[in-house]
Amino acid sequence: MTPEFRRIAERLTEVSLAKACPFCQGQLELRFSPEGARTVCATCQIINRAEVRRTKDGLAVDFTSTAKA
Ligand SMILES: [Zn+2]
Repeated sequence: MTPEFRRIAERLTEVSLAKACPFCQGQLELRFSPEGARTVCATCQIINRAEVRRTKDGLAVDFTSTAKA
C-alpha cells in the first residue's frame, strides 16, 4: 500500500497511516513541516515527534518523543 500524501498548507504535508499507532494501533496522521515530522493518533490523541526515513518498502517511522494531546 502506498500512502497518499496531501499538501495541506504551503509547507505542510500530511499522510495517513492505517494501524500505525504504536499505542492503540489506530490511524496515524503524519505531518511534515520545516520543523520536522510529527504524528497524531486519530484515536488516542497521542502526539509523537518522529523521524521518517524512506526505505525500499515505503516509509519507516522512528518515534523520538511522546506527548498527550
Ligand atoms: Zn493511538
